[in-house]
Amino acid sequence: MRRSIYFFGGGQADGDAQQKELLGGKGAGLAEMTRLGIPVPPGFTVTTEVCNAYYAAGRALPAGVEDEIKAAIGRLESLLDARFGSPEAPLLVSVRSGARASMPGMMDTILNLGLNDEIARGLAKRTGSERFALDAYRRFILTYADIVLGVPRDRFEEALGRARKQAAARLGVDATRLNAAELERKVPDSLLDPESLASLIQRQKDIVLGATGRPFPDDPYAQLWGAIRAVFDSWKNHRAQVYRKMHDIPEAWGTACNVQAMVFGNLGDDSGTGVAFTRDPSTGERRFYGEWLPNAQGEDVVAGVRTPHPLSRSGSLGADAEDACSLEAQMPEAYAELVEVQGRLEQHFRDMQDLEFTIQQKKLFLLQCRTGKRTGRAAVRIAVEMAKEGLISQREAILRVDPGSIDQLLHPSIDASAPKRLLARGLPASPGAATGQVVFSADEAERRAGQGKAVILVRSETSPEDIHGMKAARGILTARGGMTSHAAVVARGMGKSCVAGCSAVSVSQGQMAVTLYDDHGHPTDTITVKAGDLITLDGGTGTVYLGAVPTVPAALSGEFEELMVWADAVRRLRVRSNADTPHDARTARNFGAEGIGLCRTEHMFFDEERIQAVREMILADGEAGRRRALAKLLPFQRSDFVGVFREMAGLPVTIRLLDPPLHEFLPQDEAQLQQLSRAMGVPAKELQRKNEELAEYNPMLGHRGCRLAITSPEIYEMQARAILEAACEVAAAGIEVEPEIMIPLSMTRRELAITRALVERVAEKVFAEKGRRVDVRFGTMIELPRAAIVAGELAEEAEFFSFGTNDLTQTTLGISRDDAGRFLGAYVEAGIFTRDPFQSLDVSGVGELVEIGRDRGRAARPGLKLGVCGEHGGDPSSIAFFERAGLDYVSCSPFRVPVARLAAAQAALAAETPRGPRSTD
Ligand code: ADP
Ligand code: MG
Ligand code: MG
Repeated sequence: MRRSIYFFGGGQADGDAQQKELLGGKGAGLAEMTRLGIPVPPGFTVTTEVCNAYYAAGRALPAGVEDEIKAAIGRLESLLDARFGSPEAPLLVSVRSGARASMPGMMDTILNLGLNDEIARGLAKRTGSERFALDAYRRFILTYADIVLGVPRDRFEEALGRARKQAAARLGVDATRLNAAELERKVPDSLLDPESLASLIQRQKDIVLGATGRPFPDDPYAQLWGAIRAVFDSWKNHRAQVYRKMHDIPEAWGTACNVQAMVFGNLGDDSGTGVAFTRDPSTGERRFYGEWLPNAQGEDVVAGVRTPHPLSRSGSLGADAEDACSLEAQMPEAYAELVEVQGRLEQHFRDMQDLEFTIQQKKLFLLQCRTGKRTGRAAVRIAVEMAKEGLISQREAILRVDPGSIDQLLHPSIDASAPKRLLARGLPASPGAATGQVVFSADEAERRAGQGKAVILVRSETSPEDIHGMKAARGILTARGGMTSHAAVVARGMGKSCVAGCSAVSVSQGQMAVTLYDDHGHPTDTITVKAGDLITLDGGTGTVYLGAVPTVPAALSGEFEELMVWADAVRRLRVRSNADTPHDARTARNFGAEGIGLCRTEHMFFDEERIQAVREMILADGEAGRRRALAKLLPFQRSDFVGVFREMAGLPVTIRLLDPPLHEFLPQDEAQLQQLSRAMGVPAKELQRKNEELAEYNPMLGHRGCRLAITSPEIYEMQARAILEAACEVAAAGIEVEPEIMIPLSMTRRELAITRALVERVAEKVFAEKGRRVDVRFGTMIELPRAAIVAGELAEEAEFFSFGTNDLTQTTLGISRDDAGRFLGAYVEAGIFTRDPFQSLDVSGVGELVEIGRDRGRAARPGLKLGVCGEHGGDPSSIAFFERAGLDYVSCSPFRVPVARLAAAQAALAAETPRGPRSTD
């Protein structure tokens, strides 16, 4: 093992920004800032390797690490002229987790470590503030008890309440009739006097003793070992695991642990703490942006307990441009230094940075910098603008934007012209419109979403315990907290609509009360919203509406179009779309689809008018009856194809002939059966018998795909006719058509020979009737391992292959995708699969079959066109594989088309350069 400890301080650091794997993002950032000469409190990082060794040894620190840590503490002491554990010149530290990828709020940080009664007295003397020292001490005990000793925070609520009452009495505030929240507002932490704090500390210690059977540890080193272990332990706590799963962060990375000398933002009104972004994380606008709180420590800004102030005068979101509470107005020198530092950091890292800072008695300290999380919209704007500023190249700009994140740009917004009832305004924390039923707890959000309901999670403020509920919700509304509160940061990361800090809302006991205001800001009324009521959020403006408000499709920004142009210029893979209707085809084309890769004809069957004819066709006795029913379907199919061909003028359209087993179209219940019986003049009993006859034990592997055409060729005949008649009709109107007829689920050359002859027969007839010919290509899907293996033979008949990777995954893995949900989660959790193979292609298995199919197919027919349809066609990591495999195109759902275009461009760039795209953050 390499060294366990990396020191930073006094302008020098053992590590640097490149060492994220070893030092975690936070440790690497602290080291780099130190090297740059930016003021950072000194400290050291215990590496991720130590964390992994800790777990390997059954949660024990490896030998020697403690000594190395003691030596590092020694270096801190001499640098700061203070001593860890000394009452005369106390050195206090924070113990901070920090993984390779930033996991906001996922891991626990302990502040003010190194205090006991005696040292607290020393700190009081040294800072001249007993109140401050005792407040730091009681906060430390609280966090330490919660995180390290496993005594939950809420066990201390009552003691804190008592301290507040005690303080209230001294202040002459009548507290007898106040509830906890009101009391907190009347007597905030800053008004707790030394006497109340001293007795609170004693009570807290008693609670710890009662709960653990041991006194609170007095020895600073004992505290330190406990805290370091707890940081490592937190890598495997529940909320960290949930977050990792959501963001595909491997368990094996481990976290680093940073121990850093404390600076204090709560030493009075010339101190404070805050968070800043070098550009607006929501819109991407180039302006310095952030929030701060005077006389506050640590998490106060993000915890949302007090609503923070803007950094810049012009940064306030309210109406008045000049904000007297801004850092710029309050501490101009510290602000100016911060502006200078942020500019340097952005230039240095060549990306938007998210900074955490503290000001201790007017002196600025940086406590964290990292690549800032941003909305998809902001990501695009920042990448394009930085490329134009010359900070990065166009190629880098393409690689900078996570294709998954641009999904959110394509989502609808509130229809401005629709009638709506304004409920309240908060901060525009994460863009997008969302409507849903109000729920007040994360569990409830998960439960109702599980029932298929759209929900909006409403909380006073969110905390990491709410992650699963935020994930389940369409949108999030909080009453407190700013633009950098937990709710805001996490929602932006998830691409979810969020309105934060909506102070007109108060949440309690399973309902929310909303105060309404008139134009002059005077309260006029209160509305109560209960669980299950519908509300609509506009996260782009911070507006909350009562009821469901209609939405309109996304309007794409100029920067987005620009980025897409750059991406298209470097991309090799073509991007088509799966679209079954003219409407979907138009959407796809607007998003840049270069053709249709999969048009599923059966979706056209479910329409109310048509399903009757479909059922007649299925249940008819004999060919004549089937043909009669098919004749009714023909005009419907033809007109659908006409619509699709028109929308896709000049572009290829791959139409798949009927694929699903016929019983999927049959009547589901008695009423439908009766209706069909009347329409067909066939007794219901008879139909029921037929129905049962068609039932299959394993329909996915049953009578479906081209098997249908072998037993009932008239179905494909009708479909081929509809396609070709439509093609002739559209061509006659002077519109270029490129039909491609695709046979599903083939496994033998003979099946293709038969269906091909059928299509050609129909084509000759149609061309003779119409007096014109159109070029039509014939091809097949590759969805079975056998098809991939005999691809050479299939290519003798087929002019193109489309890998149907949904079925190919299913048939290769022998896992039904309809049933896999029950156990695939466990497979991913156990690390058997890194990701769900139905979402992200199983490269080593299914991917190998794709390559076999490609090689054998192209050997038999040079120039054989190869594409992919199925979920994987829109999945960035699968697209990277398809690029490497040299396929011609991918096809995905219309809304994924821009995602696929960008992912294909990134894949092309990655193929060009030996290095892949940048890692997680
Ligand atoms: P997270 O990973 O959740 O962001 P951090 O380790 O950054 O947690 O700690 C949270 C906050 O605690 C920081 O933003 C900072 O305000 C405060 N903090 C951490 N270490 C120190 C320190 N040495 N001095 C002062 N404040 C600190
Ligand atoms: Mg932080
Ligand atoms: Mg299929």
